[in-house]
Amino acid sequence: EERENSDSQFSLPCIECVIPYRVTHRGEIDEGDHIIYAGAVYDHHAIITEIAPDERDENNIKRAKVTLIHATNTKLGVFSGLSKVFGGKAEIRRTVDYFDFETSKIMIVKYFNAPFKATDVIRRAEGELEKQDFRYHLFGNNCEHFATYCVTNERFSMQVTKLKMTLRMFLSLRFVALSNEKLRNQVAYERGLICKMCFERNNKLFEAEKKPIKEKADVQKGDIITFSYWNLYHDAIVLEVHEDKVGHRNKVDLTFAHYAFCGQSEHYTIKQKRKTFPLNGSVTVTMYTSPPFKVYTSKETVDRAKMRIDEQQFAFFANDSSHFARWCKFKLSHSS
Ligand SMILES: [Zn+2]
Repeated sequence: EERENSDSQFSLPCIECVIPYRVTHRGEIDEGDHIIYAGAVYDHHAIITEIAPDERDENNIKRAKVTLIHATNTKLGVFSGLSKVFGGKAEIRRTVDYFDFETSKIMIVKYFNAPFKATDVIRRAEGELEKQDFRYHLFGNNCEHFATYCVTNERFSMQVTKLKMTLRMFLSLRFVALSNEKLRNQVAYERGLICKMCFERNNKLFEAEKKPIKEKADVQKGDIITFSYWNLYHDAIVLEVHEDKVGHRNKVDLTFAHYAFCGQSEHYTIKQKRKTFPLNGSVTVTMYTSPPFKVYTSKETVDRAKMRIDEQQFAFFANDSSHFARWCKFKLSHSS
């Protein structure tokens, strides 16, 4: 089956196959990974080519000495006239950095369906370092384009891709049925925005039963709950079901992790929050307990949710509250 590709001005990767998340310890990064770390002006993207212990951390957990290859937004050589705008090469550099995973915000980008092995990604990055022939993009983030190119052979920006996807989805749906996940999934696939595997996996997930919470025993740690938030259905991961000290009969006291709305779309952030919910059935738990769903244990689900707290990669349709919740809960593997 072919994906529709009516306007081929730019090629979009399947954005559900590309997931950035926060790194909390050394064990989460590998050589060949695409990494994002905060720079003075913008985020830097790089390919890790070597990881070594940092002497300051004898346990080799919180810190690491990391060798990176990345593109800078500096142009190589001398240019004049039109070549200033249309030509030029981005300078590729190799640098050594010391990462402290506790104090710095370091993100890793996970790719499902990546065409190259880690060793090939490193070889591609080293090849570009040697050639110094990477096309400079005046308006693009060259370091991000370089990293995605090394991993996938395509140059793209996740943020720009998500914006384009959101725009296409709004145009396709004409502002109706925005909360109909099944229809959104269908449209995203028909418009070539997500791959067939993500489409089929999502459809399978929508078949799961949503059970209304009517008593405290209906909700457990690690569950995906759905409730109304700013008039939209919103998903969250339950981190803790608190003991009821006050003696509320009709309420349940939960701590959960979710994509919180903080004023503007660019300020959607994954936050931890504590709130009491009524036991009137307005909140539901999605029942992913039986096959064909492969789920993490409740502890693993909670740990995965906590790992992404403070992340700001929200995009309608591509990485919203339900995608976050599903990512925490499911072993999303394309081979299953
Ligand atoms: Zn996909």
